[in-house]
Amino acid sequence: MSLSLSADQPAVPDDADDGVWLECIECGETFAPFDDIRYTCDECDGLLEVRYAELPTFDDFEGHGVWRYADALPFDSGVTIQEGATPLYEVPSLEDDIGVEALRIKHEGMNPTGSFKDRGMTVGVRVATELGVDRLACASTGNTSAALAAYGSRGGIETLVLLPAGKVAAGKIAQASLHGARILEVDGNFDACLDIVQELAGQGEAYLLNSLNPFRLEGQKTIGLEILEGFLADYDTVPDRIVLPVGNAGNTSALYKAFRELVQAGELAEGDVPKLTGVQAEGAAPMVEAIENGADEVMRWEEVETRATAIRIGNPVNAPKALPGIRETGGTAVAVSDEEITEAQRDVAGEGIGVEPASAASIAGLRKLRREGIVGDDERVACLTTGHLLKDPDAAAAAGADPESVPNDLDGVLEHLSE
Ligand SMILES: *Cc1c(COP(=O)(O)O)cnc(C)c1O
Ligand SMILES: [Zn+2]
Repeated sequence: MSLSLSADQPAVPDDADDGVWLECIECGETFAPFDDIRYTCDECDGLLEVRYAELPTFDDFEGHGVWRYADALPFDSGVTIQEGATPLYEVPSLEDDIGVEALRIKHEGMNPTGSFKDRGMTVGVRVATELGVDRLACASTGNTSAALAAYGSRGGIETLVLLPAGKVAAGKIAQASLHGARILEVDGNFDACLDIVQELAGQGEAYLLNSLNPFRLEGQKTIGLEILEGFLADYDTVPDRIVLPVGNAGNTSALYKAFRELVQAGELAEGDVPKLTGVQAEGAAPMVEAIENGADEVMRWEEVETRATAIRIGNPVNAPKALPGIRETGGTAVAVSDEEITEAQRDVAGEGIGVEPASAASIAGLRKLRREGIVGDDERVACLTTGHLLKDPDAAAAAGADPESVPNDLDGVLEHLSE
């Protein structure tokens, strides 16, 4: 199976372009990477992955940010707004409180538009320029649209975003709007938006930059590479576990691919690969259901609800890539309640780190798994926080302290403070 951790480096097919090609994860069919536009396999409709004739080692990486990892990407440079190189924060109080050997927070909210989606877009929009398309599109719970709008405008390409009406956090719509995307609000959930935009893309109306697009996941691999380099520098070893929120499971798939490639390159022992641990909200947990049931496929949830709107997704399109990632690395998946998410958002804020609700799910999930004994107290763990607090100001204000009214004079303020 091509998604096994122990898979051999594949033979280079004739349709490779400069050592890069696309391969179907289901039937193994290969395709030239930039001759035609395709998002899935022509033969069986399976998901595609980018393959390389040569895989880099850690020594090959140089520079800063996503493009430090150019040797692991299809191009040497992209449409960039200096994405990546995000902080790997120490959180000593939370580490103590949760009770693990080491806890670090990889805060992807520190990217240019405030989420990890920038890492995918710097590569995805570069591919779009290679293909010569004149319109980009995505369905989005918000952050993908903000990133696409920014990278599209940077690359000089028109952008179209489809959003579930009334279910996108204010900061995200504001970004898509100011960066000049055409915003279509659909009377339906994210999964409905994705169904429509996939059909639009299929008819040639636009180039699709959802995480179904295999090139976006190449950029997102760099999250995994940065975490590994950070842990190697600070602890001389890679993390035992990486805990991350799961929506469409693009990141789960991308991190797994990064690790598989390091194993193939001989840079990482199979037994050292961090356990990929996915967290979903209880109201949108089809991946957790599949992992718990040992199922080969994820069943679509038609009704989904959670205040973590970024992961309010019932049909994770990358599940066929992510399920093997969780299983082969010995990881797991867990669901947390909205209350646990808000509690975790406050906990992280108490360390000075501001994250949006979906991001806090990773900390909530770790706490739960630690409590259940599934995560050991001897583990070194990285939690991924995917988006910035300011993305969802309403959720932050609701989770935080309320402003207090005071009179317009010093005595009144002093009196109020002494109450
Ligand atoms: C997109 C997004 C997710 C979900 O990531 P997937 O790769 O689709 O699983 C989680 N959190 C935030 C803040 C996001 O923007
Ligand atoms: Zn196929």
